[in-house]
Amino acid sequence: MNSKETRQAAKQTTHERDGWKCVVCGIPGNSETLSDHHLIERSLWASEENDGYICANLVSLCSSCHLKAEQTLISVEELREMAGITEIVVPEQFYPETQLTKWGDEILIGGRRLKGPLFDEESVQEVLREGRVLGFYDNRFKYPRTFHMPFSPGALSDDKKLKDCSQFEGKEVVIFVKIDGENFQVYSDGYMHARSLSKPNHPSQAWAKNYLSQRAYLIPEGWRLSCENVYAEHSIHYSNLDNYVYLFAIWNERNEVLPFDELVEWSELLDITLCPVLWRGIWDEEIVRNIYRSKYNLDDMEGWVSWTTHGFHYKDFHKNVAKYVQSGWSENIKHGGIHWRDKPVIPNRLRERKQ
Ligand SMILES: [Zn+2]
Ligand SMILES: [Zn+2]
Repeated sequence: MNSKETRQAAKQTTHERDGWKCVVCGIPGNSETLSDHHLIERSLWASEENDGYICANLVSLCSSCHLKAEQTLISVEELREMAGITEIVVPEQFYPETQLTKWGDEILIGGRRLKGPLFDEESVQEVLREGRVLGFYDNRFKYPRTFHMPFSPGALSDDKKLKDCSQFEGKEVVIFVKIDGENFQVYSDGYMHARSLSKPNHPSQAWAKNYLSQRAYLIPEGWRLSCENVYAEHSIHYSNLDNYVYLFAIWNERNEVLPFDELVEWSELLDITLCPVLWRGIWDEEIVRNIYRSKYNLDDMEGWVSWTTHGFHYKDFHKNVAKYVQSGWSENIKHGGIHWRDKPVIPNRLRERKQ
């Protein structure tokens, strides 16, 4: 974390940049009366060297404009513009192109909001309630960004990589096969969406939607499932799938992922195939570094994803989940050839069952 002196220096530089005035209403002030407001909340800047005390994340505000900014009545973009900030910096867990509130809630086209990592916190609830903006929030959650393992060969320059594996040390993990499909969230009210909520439906989703809608009534109220829809070929053509939908996480009404053992029980109860597990055990970097094989069940394997098994809150996702992608696959998947959304649907194949 930054030292007190670094923070003081950032604050000083910010006020100087802003001419010792509130960037919104122009009222002049001093170090006592002007706040150094964080465009994106401090606690979301989790990394060691950056805790959000950087000028591109700070603006000078008077007390009344500060309150409005905290209540999200003035947007991050407006504040950036008023302060003349052209550099867009957001905490690593977010994508720079995503429009966010100060509290890390994604803002959709049209102004509806998804609940972000800090939404449940009492102080945040209070601020949003006072700002009368709670009505903008949908009870939907974006599936979080998964960081790469430090030794993941497939990490591209715009991917986020863990510096080391210390966050897993001493913890039990389960390592899932990474399936090259589409991330799919299913809610207790039957609503489903892919990673991006703004993309239109796609014909390759029909099978999964039908399959999952028959099971949604079993999902407890306020819970949601994270699944992979693998009906259509993306970069890998599968010939030996157990199912077109794989379950890999369940979130409860407090936005916590269930411990792995409970996930296993629920996958049986819901009758949704669990994502294949490569290994489970207390984190051992030696073992984990050597766990990748090019094939799983005779099909190509893109990589794997490691999850701690104890369960955790949505806001701690990046501290508990990380992936390994074999080089070649990410380039293929992200930048190579025609994107699967633009191709005709080629169904993957289920494994032939012996009679
Ligand atoms: Zn002001
Ligand atoms: Zn503030």
